[in-house]
Amino acid sequence: MNNLVAPEINTENLPDKKGYFGEYGGSYVPPELQKLMDEITESYERISNDPSFIKELKELNEHFTGRPSPIYHAKRLTEAVGGADIYLKREDLNHTGSHKINHAIGEVLVAKRMGKKKVIAETGAGQHGVALATAAALLGLECDIYMGEVDVKKESPNVSRMKILGAKVIPVTEGTKTLKDAVDAAFKAYLAHPEDTIYCIGTVVGPHPFPKMVRDFQAVIGIEAKEQMAKLTGRLPDAIVACVGGGSNAMGIFSAFLEDESVRIYGVEPAGKGLDTGKHAASISRGIKGILHGFKCYLIADKNGEALPVYSIASGLDYPGVGPQHCYLHDIGRVRYETATDREAVEAFYALSRMEGIIPALESSHAVAYGVKLAKQMGKGKDILINLSGRGDKDIDFVMEHYPLSEYEPEDYMKDGYDEFLKHIGGEKN
Ligand SMILES: *Cc1c(COP(=O)(O)O)cnc(C)c1O
Repeated sequence: MNNLVAPEINTENLPDKKGYFGEYGGSYVPPELQKLMDEITESYERISNDPSFIKELKELNEHFTGRPSPIYHAKRLTEAVGGADIYLKREDLNHTGSHKINHAIGEVLVAKRMGKKKVIAETGAGQHGVALATAAALLGLECDIYMGEVDVKKESPNVSRMKILGAKVIPVTEGTKTLKDAVDAAFKAYLAHPEDTIYCIGTVVGPHPFPKMVRDFQAVIGIEAKEQMAKLTGRLPDAIVACVGGGSNAMGIFSAFLEDESVRIYGVEPAGKGLDTGKHAASISRGIKGILHGFKCYLIADKNGEALPVYSIASGLDYPGVGPQHCYLHDIGRVRYETATDREAVEAFYALSRMEGIIPALESSHAVAYGVKLAKQMGKGKDILINLSGRGDKDIDFVMEHYPLSEYEPEDYMKDGYDEFLKHIGGEKN
């Protein structure tokens, strides 16, 4: 147990020593890699209990990232929906624009204290790569980012950002030239130079200790939110909602509330073009148990347990697996996993922009879309806290091209409330 996550809020003190959350998680890697994972586990336990580490991390969170991120009462959205009060935890206001900076700084700080000179990671759309390159620049470590050649071409602003920040972007030309091949290439590079480098995962997945370590660094979201809600409303929220890709922003806000039985907790998975179209990435809602990237979880896979291609409008949510703690929390019934489609996410994207002046990331828009439905269901007098994991600047060109404003701009824009807005623009409403 470490001091980042106070024992009383880490439900059942999980994971166990071998990295299991119930039957999920663990470490399924070759022996040579297991040796390195054991080294990281041992170092992390030691470092994360060191008061000088905790102090340094807190200071960087405050002075570099800009924590605590505020909680904002979305009054106009609340009014339009006509149900529970909607509050937003503003992770979009962090430096670099999302929650990812929280674990990037934590991981690079651990790497530095382990005496490593370089951090290695893969990236898909480039968000994890940018966060890690930022943390590496801040703390003076080298940074190598492996990225599929296809993604390098598609995500040129993020590639430029990483290069400007001093990272080396290495295009991966094997296989489908996308995220999965980038993971393999990054692990290969790590195994070749384990003495002076370390691998940094971008969410609560992978072999032990990564799901625990990344969760611990994200737990600051929930710890702050609990205090802030108490100040704002004098009580706990009635429900918490977060989107789930790998599950790091969700574990971050959930972990502080797991023991509070009155708080209903919802994870929102991407239903893509619809759960029955096969074009989605809803690992818990539609997956089977399997092993991916060195850990056990619910997985979108074929009969042989091979991960299948997945899809979401939000590139940060399109991962075939999901963090092991989420699988456990699903099975014990503590957290409910729901879904939102691409279309619903875009509706929420425009709604929040127009009604609150906040352009949310498409990932976060999934949480907003479900949160709005829930607010209607729960009704007046209840409080819902939505984790706004990131800002939408990265998504504006894509949305304008594929979901043009004209379709979302009926004459009496939302004059009759959110329900009427949904009717105007049609699409799937589940
Ligand atoms: C990467 C990303 C996510 C998804 O990752 P999780 O580990 O599930 O949190 C969600 N929101 C934003 C803004 C992201 O950049």
